[in-house]
Formats: sequence, C-alpha cells, structure tokens
Amino acid sequence: HDRIRLVMLGGAGVGKSAILKRFLFGTFTDKYKSTVEDLYSRDYDLGSVSIKVDILDTCGDLQFPAMRRLSIATANAFLLVYACNSADSFSRLKCCFEEIREQRDDFQQVPIVVAGNKLDMAPSHREVPLEDVSEWLYCELPRLRTKLVECSAKDNYNIRDMFKCFLTLYRIL
Ligand code: GDP
Ligand code: MG
Repeated sequence: HDRIRLVMLGGAGVGKSAILKRFLFGTFTDKYKSTVEDLYSRDYDLGSVSIKVDILDTCGDLQFPAMRRLSIATANAFLLVYACNSADSFSRLKCCFEEIREQRDDFQQVPIVVAGNKLDMAPSHREVPLEDVSEWLYCELPRLRTKLVECSAKDNYNIRDMFKCFLTLYRIL
C-alpha cells in the first residue's frame, strides 16, 4: 500500500481523540467532547518511499452500527484503544476485536495495535493488568502480527512509538 487507512476503535471516553490530537498536534485537553467521526491525513517519508496515512477517529459508541461496519470494512489497519483504569473499556475492546474478526476475511493480514491509554491513572486506579491484555491478545493473534502498548495521551507517553508500530507491522505483513 502507498496509502494506509488506519481506523481507531474502542469505547467512548477511553481517549482515542486525545491520542490522535497528541500525535498530530502535540496538544492535550482535559475537556471531553464526543466524536462523531473525524478523518485526518498525514504523509510519512520513509526514505525511498512516501506513504499517506489516513486516520479515522470514530465515536466508539454502540449507537452507530452501520457507521462502524463501514469503518471496519474500509480499514487497512486498526488501533484498538481501552483505558487502563476501566475494566469495562477492555470488555468493549474485545467486542470491537470480535466485530473485526467477523467482518474481515483478511483478518490475519490486517495490522492491529492495542493501546491501553490513561497510564498516568494506573498507579492509583488501574483496573486492567497488562498481563490480562497480553494473555488475551497473544491467544487471539500471533505475537509478530500485533503490538500491545500502554500509553498516556496526557503525559505524551508512548504515543509516537505506537504509531510507528504500524509501519513496522506493514513491513512484516
Ligand atoms: P474518546 O471518546 O475515546 O475519543 O475519548 P477522548 O479523547 O475524548 O477523552 C475522554 C476524556 O479522557 C477526556 O476528558 C480526556 O481529557 C481524557 N483523557 C484522554 N486521554 C487521557 C490520558 O492519557 N490520561 C488521562 N488522565 N485522561 C485522558
Ligand atoms: Mg473521540
């Protein structure tokens, strides 16, 4: 691909938009504004080749099944987000994963990165142990096919690295 369509999925409020804004604009706000659907574009220069990345930020809500189906159908890569301080959000992420598996025949070839956001909250409010997520994820997918990171949009921790993972996965798959 010289053009990648990356779709962000996960429960409402886990920080999908915050991660993207931190990555693209270097900003963070504590205010919460729900997303309907936003599309951003970025060019990556990889020396010999340049690729265009379109990033679709979704609302993550269960209210828009048709919209989610379409976003899943058109993606070449997924960023699935939960929050380290919300067990519910991890359950929600697993549902998203199942939807992708059901809808995509090429499931094994699509890069998937799983991100546990709000790591800054983890010391006092962690509800999702990293081991639980890795145990689940590596049961579902071979280790080389996927990447698991904990991050904080607030502290700008692991945000850039997480997006770099996609480029690495693309070279493998
Ligand atoms: P979305 O619904 O997944 O897009 O979530 P948002 O990006 O809108 O974020 C929801 C709320 O969580 C907002 O109030 C954000 O400020 C907050 N938030 C997002 N990322 C972080 C983070 O890394 N740490 C903390 N403490 N709060 C965050
Ligand atoms: Mg949002």
